[in-house]
Amino acid sequence: MENIFRIIVCIKQVPGTTEIKINPETNTLVREGIETVINPFDTYAIEEGVRIKERMQQSGSEAEVTAITMGPAQSESILREAISLGADKAILLSDRAFAGADTWATALTLKNAVKKLEGWRLIILGKQTLDGDTGQVGPELAHMLNIPFIGYASSIEHISGQKITVKRLAEDRYETFEVRLPAAISVGKDINVPRVPSLRGKLKAKNETIPVLNIADLSMDEKDAGLSGSYTQVIKIFTPKHVYEVKMIEGSPDEQAEELFTKLKQLNIV
Ligand SMILES: Cc1cc2nc3c(=O)[nH]c(=O)nc-3n(C[C@H](O)[C@H](O)[C@H](O)COP(=O)(O)OP(=O)(O)OC[C@H]3O[C@@H](n4cnc5c(N)ncnc54)[C@H](O)[C@@H]3O)c2cc1C
Repeated sequence: MENIFRIIVCIKQVPGTTEIKINPETNTLVREGIETVINPFDTYAIEEGVRIKERMQQSGSEAEVTAITMGPAQSESILREAISLGADKAILLSDRAFAGADTWATALTLKNAVKKLEGWRLIILGKQTLDGDTGQVGPELAHMLNIPFIGYASSIEHISGQKITVKRLAEDRYETFEVRLPAAISVGKDINVPRVPSLRGKLKAKNETIPVLNIADLSMDEKDAGLSGSYTQVIKIFTPKHVYEVKMIEGSPDEQAEELFTKLKQLNIV
């Protein structure tokens, strides 16, 4: 088998608008017919994958970036965007059976796809999505693949064919981890500045044939995918109403200060 350092980047299509609609039957987001974008953190994941590929190529090794998404047919558009940003290949995981997946079912579907790819050494994910926003898929996928996971990577200090050293920002300090490959990492906005698509990238994206894998291709059982394979279900999505009550404090400055202090104390603010 040729010695190519294969990098997989998981990307998700998310609503590009706050005008979201909920399917009243399944309580899942209506994703058809609304403006959609690549999940912002995933553009940093794509960029980091392409930078590692370039680093590998500069040191004489072959490397390749494959972007994967699980989503409806329309999410092919974000894969073409990933190719225009430097990914070499793309795979769409699409089947009605995948609809309504929670993070576990999403991770399991991605795991089955990754298992079909040979020679992959690193999986890069965004730290979280704009819509589900759980940050759970990365660690779940790594758990299912039984590989190390480093979340919130801020920089790749070193990478070779066998191991990776990652620095990440914790609460109030930086932590550095070195793990054996294969491994998975998630990235935030501080890891790089995503490039803009090149003309060559756009042309490649336009002409690329993107394979679509369905549930049979992934040798998955319907009971493990989508809504039926989900341990959690979103039962209601709503925008919390913020009730603002305005009360003018009367009296002399001292009386006003006194009353304000009393109120703040009652609210345990001071
Ligand atoms: C408002 C809302 C709330 C939700 N709450 C929950 C919940 O509490 N628990 C739950 O289990 N599910 C929940 N879901 C469903 C959840 O969004 C989906 O399971 C989703 O596919 C993955 O979860 P996430 O969006 O939180 O991803 P995250 O874990 O935040 O995503 C992290 C990274 O994983 C990768 N990734 C995520 N989804 C995909 C994909 N489809 N294809 C390829 N890569 C991907 C991307 O790199 C992404 O940056 C919610 C959905 C919505 C819309």
